[in-house]
Amino acid sequence: MSPQELQFIGGVRRAGSGAPLDITAPSTGEVIASGAGASVADVEAAVAAARAAFPPWAGMTPGERSDIMHRWVRLLRDHAGELAAVESRNAGKPIRLAQEFDVPGTIDNVAFFAGAARNLEGKASAEYSADHTSTIRREPLGVIGSISPWNYPLQMAGWKILPAVAAGNTIVLKPSELTPLTSLLFAEIATEAGVPAGVINVLTGVGPVAGQALVEHPRVAMVSFTGSTAVGRQVAATAAGSVKRVHLELGGKAPFVVFDDADLEAAARGAVAGALINAGQDCTAATRAYVQRPLFDEFVSRVADLMDHVTLGPVDDPETDMGPLISLPHRAKVIGMVDRAREYGAKVVRGGRIPEHTDAGGAYYEPTLITGVAQDSEIVQNEVFGPVLVALPFDTDDEAIEFANDTAYGLAASAWSRNVFRTQRASREIQAGCVWINDHIPILSEMPHGGYKASGFGKDMSTYSFDDYTNIKHVMSDITAVAHKPWHDTVFRAE
Ligand code: NAD
Repeated sequence: MSPQELQFIGGVRRAGSGAPLDITAPSTGEVIASGAGASVADVEAAVAAARAAFPPWAGMTPGERSDIMHRWVRLLRDHAGELAAVESRNAGKPIRLAQEFDVPGTIDNVAFFAGAARNLEGKASAEYSADHTSTIRREPLGVIGSISPWNYPLQMAGWKILPAVAAGNTIVLKPSELTPLTSLLFAEIATEAGVPAGVINVLTGVGPVAGQALVEHPRVAMVSFTGSTAVGRQVAATAAGSVKRVHLELGGKAPFVVFDDADLEAAARGAVAGALINAGQDCTAATRAYVQRPLFDEFVSRVADLMDHVTLGPVDDPETDMGPLISLPHRAKVIGMVDRAREYGAKVVRGGRIPEHTDAGGAYYEPTLITGVAQDSEIVQNEVFGPVLVALPFDTDDEAIEFANDTAYGLAASAWSRNVFRTQRASREIQAGCVWINDHIPILSEMPHGGYKASGFGKDMSTYSFDDYTNIKHVMSDITAVAHKPWHDTVFRAE
C-alpha cells in the first residue's frame, strides 16, 4: 500500500514526519492505510495553524460561525454513507451500528452546535454596586488540544471539536492512532463547508509522542481528553505543569439495577443491548447487573437466551449484530479478566471464549454472561471494555444502591422498576453523570455527558459543555465619572 497523508494541518492533508503507522481493520487484521505518524514538529505546525486561525474565527459573529456549521451538516449528510463505511471498517463495528448510531448521532451533534453557537450567554448586565455596571463576557480560550479514543472515533471527534469551535476556539485533535480515518474525513468536510483552514486540525500519532507534546504545549490553552482513567491521570499531571484547563472523560463501569417489580423482559433486553453495544467497548455499557433475588434466576436465564441470538460476523454484513474487539492485544486483556474470574470460582453462563466461525485475524469474542462473583472481585470493580456482563443478586434497596456506588467510577447507571419512588431514589443516590430509568445507553445532543469520581469531570454535548470551552470575564465599568471615588479614602486621604 502506498503511504498516505495521515495529518490534516492548516486545511490540507499532509504526510507526518514521525514514525510509520499502519491502520488496520479489526475484523480482518488487514492494513487499510499506512503513513507517517505525527511527530513533535507536526504538533508544532498544527498548534501554529490553530493559533493563526484563532483571531479571525473568534472574531466572527456567532451567526457567521453557525451558518458555516449548518453547511457542514448538509455536506455530512451527503457523505453519510462513506463515513459509515469507513467507521465500520476502521473501528471494526457492524455497519448497522455505524449507519444508525455513530453517523446520524454525529450529524445531529453538528446541527445542535450550529444552533447553540448563537446561544452563548452570560448573566444580564446590572449595577451590583451603585457606582458600576457589571457585564459578563463569555470568551473562547484559544487553541484547544484534544485527545480521543478508538471506540467511537467519529462521535468522539464530534464531542471534542463541536463545542470548542462553536464557542470560537480552534482545535488540534489527536484521535487514537488506531482509528483516525473518520476524524480526518470529518475535518476535511468541515473545510469544504467553509470552516477556515487551521480552525480544525487532526494529527494521527501515538499518545506518548503527539499526545504528550500537545498536552505539554505552552500555546495550548486547554486539554480535553477522552480515554482511560490511567492515561487521563497522566494527562492531568502533565497539564498541571503549564496550568492548563483540563476536561477529562474517562472510564466507566455502569451498574444496571433491577428491582423486583421491574418489567423483566424489558430489563433483560436492555441488559443485552446495553452490555453488547459496540462489543461492550462503550464507556457507559451495562457491565454490572444487580438483580433483586426473586428475579435473579429468571433474569440470568433470559439474558443468556437473548445472547444466544446475537449474530457475530463480518462488519460489512447488515445482518451482523456484534463485530470484533478493537485488537488482538485488547482481546487478550478481556480474556485475561474472564479467565481470572473463572479461576476464582465464577460461573461463565454464556460465552467466555473465542467463537469458532469468525474471520481469521479478527479479534472476536463471544457475548459473555458471568455469575457467582464477589462485589470486590476484579471483574466487578475494573473496566473490562468487552462484551462481558456480570450479574449479582441483591436483597434490599439499600444494598443495591451501595453496590451500585461501590467502584471507583461514576459515568452512567440505570435503574429498572415500576415504582416511581424506587427509581427516584436511585436517580438521586447513584453517583453517576447519567442515570437512566428503565433504559440504558440512549444519548442526546441537548443533554450533557460526563462523569463523577474516577470517570472524570467536564461535560460533552449540550450547552453545559460551553462552561468548559469558554472563559467567563467580568467587565466592571464605573458609571459615576468621579475622579475622587469614596472608596479611595480607605486607602489614602490626600485631597
Ligand atoms: P487510552 O487512554 O488508551 O487512549 C486514549 C487516547 O490517549 C488515545 O488517543 C491515545 O493515543 C492517547 N494517549 C495515550 N497515552 C498518552 C499520553 N501519555 N499522553 C497523551 N495522550 C495519550 O484509551 P482507549 O483505549 O483509546 O479508549 C478506551 C477508554 O476510553 C476506556 O477506558 C473508555 O471507558 C474510555 N472512554 C470514555 C468515554 C467517556 O465519555 N467518558 C468515552 C469513550 C471512551
